[in-house]
Amino acid sequence: MRARLLLLGIGAAALGGGGYWWWSAPHGSRHGQAALAQTEAILALGPRPPGSNALQAVRERLRSQLQAAGWVSVGQPFERSTTLGMMKFENLRARFADGDADAWQRPVKGLLCAHMDSKLFKHEVFLGADDAASACGAMLEIARVLAQDSPQLAKQMELVFFDGEEALEENITAFDGLYGSRHYASAWPEAAAKPAFGVLLDMVGHKDLAIRLPSDTPDSLRDAVLAAAKKEGAGKHFDVAQGAIIDDHTPLVRAGIPMVDIIGDFSNRHWWHTPADSRSLLSADSLEISIRVTLDVLDGQLKRQ
Ligand SMILES: [Zn+2]
Repeated sequence: MRARLLLLGIGAAALGGGGYWWWSAPHGSRHGQAALAQTEAILALGPRPPGSNALQAVRERLRSQLQAAGWVSVGQPFERSTTLGMMKFENLRARFADGDADAWQRPVKGLLCAHMDSKLFKHEVFLGADDAASACGAMLEIARVLAQDSPQLAKQMELVFFDGEEALEENITAFDGLYGSRHYASAWPEAAAKPAFGVLLDMVGHKDLAIRLPSDTPDSLRDAVLAAAKKEGAGKHFDVAQGAIIDDHTPLVRAGIPMVDIIGDFSNRHWWHTPADSRSLLSADSLEISIRVTLDVLDGQLKRQ
């Protein structure tokens, strides 16, 4: 905190001394700072594996923050048999209310999703700061911006916070992990009108931001993200991964919804799924980039015929 105060001081001095501050940071990182504050509030609740009191507290906090921004939310509880026995999970869905009592009746064009659980570690404290509290923080800020600046676009969206993305054992398998997204996706094949696209955020706040889109991302969504990154002057932080990635988008793709997973590089990273995934990894500037690129992508996709 002390270092940040010092940096703020330098920024103010630069502003007083001429235009350097604006030249070096053309956008500032207002959205990134807001998302970081939301992320910190989630992390303050402690590790949040499925079924924990902390995860319930996170859900309640997300609900209240969404409500303050004009969104209505509803829990989607379900139970699953797991290697740890029968477990209860609960996704959180949100739609923009805008005084409209039928928020849940209208079809939506786009999904924006992230997972709110942190991986269960039996003997170590794992906060999952970038995996994926930061994505939840980013989603709250995106929800606020959409509601304020683009209510007509907000009305075409559904936000989903998944429970149980992380496997209870070490790795995601056909039976373990993606609990919330598998359950959520199972309702869509029967739906009359499916969303035209979805965006999943995961690990989008790392200070060394290196987004790697899964190689099997649909061309139009991949191109939209890369073009948005270029437009935001952040092209160097975005690329395509060597292969496909299994994440919460996978069940939705199988349900027939084209998805892009805006996911930070976690391959060969020493911090991934270790207690090192803590607040010190995160950067408001990285969150700012991820938020701006996501907003650009949503804007473009929602305005497409
Ligand atoms: Zn993870």
